[in-house]
Amino acid sequence: ENVTIASSEVVNDKLLGGLLTTGFDEQSCLSRYQSVLYRKASSHFPSAYLLERLREHEALQKKCGPHTESYKKAIEQLKAGQGAKVMECNYLVWVAYSGLGNRILTMASAFLYAILTRRVLLVDSDKGTADLFCEPFPETSWLLPPKFPIKQFKNFSNGSPESYGNMLKNKAIRSNPAFLYLHMAHDYSDYDKLFFCEDNQQYLRNIPWLILKSDNYFVPSLFLIPAYQEELTRLFPQRDSVFHHLGRYLFHPSNVVWGMVTRYYDSYLARADERLGIQIRVFDPEPGPFQHVLDQVLACTLKENLLPAINSKQPIVSTRHSRLKSVLITSLNSGYYEKIRSMYWEHPTTNGEMISFHQPSHEEHQNSDKKMHNMKAWAEIYLLSLSDVMVTSAWSTFGYVAQGLSGLRPWLLFKPENRIAPDPPCRQVLSMEPCFHAPPFYDCKAKRGADTGKFVPYVSHCEDMSWGLKLV
Ligand code: GDP
Repeated sequence: ENVTIASSEVVNDKLLGGLLTTGFDEQSCLSRYQSVLYRKASSHFPSAYLLERLREHEALQKKCGPHTESYKKAIEQLKAGQGAKVMECNYLVWVAYSGLGNRILTMASAFLYAILTRRVLLVDSDKGTADLFCEPFPETSWLLPPKFPIKQFKNFSNGSPESYGNMLKNKAIRSNPAFLYLHMAHDYSDYDKLFFCEDNQQYLRNIPWLILKSDNYFVPSLFLIPAYQEELTRLFPQRDSVFHHLGRYLFHPSNVVWGMVTRYYDSYLARADERLGIQIRVFDPEPGPFQHVLDQVLACTLKENLLPAINSKQPIVSTRHSRLKSVLITSLNSGYYEKIRSMYWEHPTTNGEMISFHQPSHEEHQNSDKKMHNMKAWAEIYLLSLSDVMVTSAWSTFGYVAQGLSGLRPWLLFKPENRIAPDPPCRQVLSMEPCFHAPPFYDCKAKRGADTGKFVPYVSHCEDMSWGLKLV
């Protein structure tokens, strides 16, 4: 099928306001230019400066990417164990770690850091990176070549002596190492967190290879580093759209995943007058389904008028209403979907609205190393992001990605404590940005603890996690 779109308006739009560039082979990644056919035009525009920097960054990725002379030179330096004084190309290696939502958020964070520090971003192909995503940069690859000389990089952890934090702790900082490991995962130490201080950024600038492992969206804390503030303001004059733009720039479903997205959408969701997405993520050692979660979802959707009430007294409510609302539910468990769907089959809605319910999969358990499992997860995140209205779950990066891509401010289901449905059950989020779950609480200048959610008005605490930070 020919995917070229005729109308010039759509042709302009398919580059998402200039976020994407032309010059890719369309067939090798259909989602890149077809997403515009499925997603409503965003009301958030990327700044001209962001577009300029993206084009510059693409040129850098091409100039220094795998198989180039610069890359070979940098690899030789790395093997020799010496950091050169002035390197033409410096690199940031992203390690595949944690669930898919976490991985997407960390790739976006790493990408922003790469833009700020003019580093080439290379991603570890573990956990199916190449099966899930298209190449984001033209005429090069972002996949780390398999012959990368630091063999143990995937096993680096908070205890590794190669980590920047441990080097600081052990006072083992050398002047020009060939590489450093940045441990930025949830279990990182106060020493690792010094990454977020300006002086430490100064030191990192001269290290040709940085290897990053994280499961966090650490962008909000980058906004608190004075050296980057001016640049970030120019890149993102509207600060709450960082992930919205970077996510739509970077993450294009592979053709296999795009087939899953479009087949599902076209079959079950396309004809609806309105699409409601409900993401049910339960952090409980038991699989459920749980009554309190069902109660909470219903309480939220009824209270916020996302779903009409049912009339349990009359068998039929006759109105001239003929609107169809399609509800996409995603969950590891099928119990919630089955109960809600039955409820709306057994009883009429009070306003006569027709509601259909759909859940693409119920995988029961997280299995982030399995290919088809990850593909389903990515297809479902993407399908959720095509909703007109969304309900997401507290603490879930899976939901954050869907909300960021969609550009919507969803209703967030608060996290239940002691298996009791919280009251209120949900609230609409302040911004579509993801929450940074493990931010540092440190004032780099004063060298003491501080509430980093109080430094500037646009970095505040999250709706779903009082110690988290998000851009608003
Ligand atoms: P988080 O744990 O909610 O922050 O999200 P992650 O995506 O990082 O990790 C959860 C993983 O569990 C996902 O990547 C999926 O592998 C799986 N998972 C959780 N919820 C769903 C769901 O609704 N649908 C599918 N297909 N997988 C899910």
